[in-house]
Amino acid sequence: MWQSKQHNAWGDPSKTDQESQPLWWQHDPLPQNSLMLPRGNARSYGDSCQNHSGVVIDTTYLNRFLDYDKDRGIIHCESGTLLKDILALVVKDNWFLPVVPGTQLITVGGAIANDIHGKNHPAKGSFGDHVLAFQLRQEGSDVIHCSSTENPDLFSATIGGLGLTGLITSATIQLKSIPSPWMAVETIPFNSLETVLELLQSSQQSHEYNVAWIDCLNQSATKLRGIFHRSNFVHSETKIPDRKNINIPCYFPRWVMNKFTIKNFNRIIYYKNKKNKPSQLPYHKFLFPLDNINHWNRIYGKPGLLQYQGVIPYDNGKTLLKELFHQIIQSQQASFLCVLKCFGEQKPKGLLSFPMSGFTLALDFPNRGKKTIDLLHCLYKITLEADGRIYPAKDSCLTPEMFQQGFSHIEQFSSHIHGNFTSDFWQRITGNSVSCKKTS
Ligand SMILES: Cc1cc2nc3c(=O)[nH]c(=O)nc-3n(C[C@H](O)[C@H](O)[C@H](O)COP(=O)(O)OP(=O)(O)OC[C@H]3O[C@@H](n4cnc5c(N)ncnc54)[C@H](O)[C@@H]3O)c2cc1C
Repeated sequence: MWQSKQHNAWGDPSKTDQESQPLWWQHDPLPQNSLMLPRGNARSYGDSCQNHSGVVIDTTYLNRFLDYDKDRGIIHCESGTLLKDILALVVKDNWFLPVVPGTQLITVGGAIANDIHGKNHPAKGSFGDHVLAFQLRQEGSDVIHCSSTENPDLFSATIGGLGLTGLITSATIQLKSIPSPWMAVETIPFNSLETVLELLQSSQQSHEYNVAWIDCLNQSATKLRGIFHRSNFVHSETKIPDRKNINIPCYFPRWVMNKFTIKNFNRIIYYKNKKNKPSQLPYHKFLFPLDNINHWNRIYGKPGLLQYQGVIPYDNGKTLLKELFHQIIQSQQASFLCVLKCFGEQKPKGLLSFPMSGFTLALDFPNRGKKTIDLLHCLYKITLEADGRIYPAKDSCLTPEMFQQGFSHIEQFSSHIHGNFTSDFWQRITGNSVSCKKTS
């Protein structure tokens, strides 16, 4: 069954699929002689899940569980299954996904194709590290089984492969065991970059999940303030309470996200969390706080938001972070979402995986056009000159040179791109307009 559905980019609502209506893929053959791109739940911020030169294949209807081994914690599901639905099924058996991002509203296919990371990278690596196998479809081919032993090269190209190697139809994932769905969370206020870097590194021994929220509008780069959170799953008999979501019904006017409102909002977050009180929270409250606000991206108004997320190596990390924060604070453009995390030493399985050993900083900026893009390019330059890289899932304005600087395996990866798969992101960062490879 083929049907169409209109979609706006998560970060930039002005970008729609006007020319290419997404298709809902069920079990038909893939479109013939057409440039295509699989899409999950479209939670990537920029254009990596858009394709104006052909069709977008919406996989969210591929959402069946195919097998669940409760004893060994292994799940096999179709690729459009949301992480939220997996957790709803497995948490009651004391299993959990080893790696989750800041939202559970993403699909398994999207998690693999961006090799996503969470707040526990030093402990658990990235999503691809827990994928035992997946099935891939390319135009004109039967299902290709991929794992570390079967088609291993295609396996590592598809992890973090941005949907360009084919359509993942299903995947088998190893879960991790947890004592209960509750997490013990410590909340520690800090007043300097030195303190938060110390906390981020020292807490890795005692806590699996570590993340710092930083107020980028209040201080100078040498005197940053914010809140550090660290957490572990703990045993508890208490039932998880029902959730009530808030809904943002429409796009806010553009002026709502101004320096004054953001500054005050940051102040409230800081003082509300300043008490340094340990607490127990259900996992979704700690791991996915934004999921409680439906369509929170509408707060940024119709121009949307642009995100910077980069990783910089630990060597010289403090100086580089100071430089990044200096530019951000000077610009006075930051919003309330600014988080700092650590990546561990593990080499990811994917050829284009984003994580590498270092600090990763992510923050949203209200989209003010050229002014914001200039700032992002300045942050990208600092990151790349330090041998860091930028996260494709969050990017909207990398240039081809910048992309090549960050990812050293592009050539090896490119040999695995299936000729009929492309995306707006890929065309932008390769500077190519790809034409459709005809298959007879
Ligand atoms: C609030 C929020 C918080 C976030 N926090 C984090 C975080 O902490 N860590 C992190 O790593 N990311 C984070 N992200 C980014 C998000 O996890 C990734 O962009 C993820 O890939 C989105 O998955 P999706 O299902 O929405 O896929 P989409 O955005 O639709 O697609 C992402 C990519 O996957 C490809 N793809 C999708 N399905 C398939 C398939 N079946 N076969 C082949 N390719 C496919 C697409 O072509 C595209 O290249 C966050 C996003 C939001 C909105």
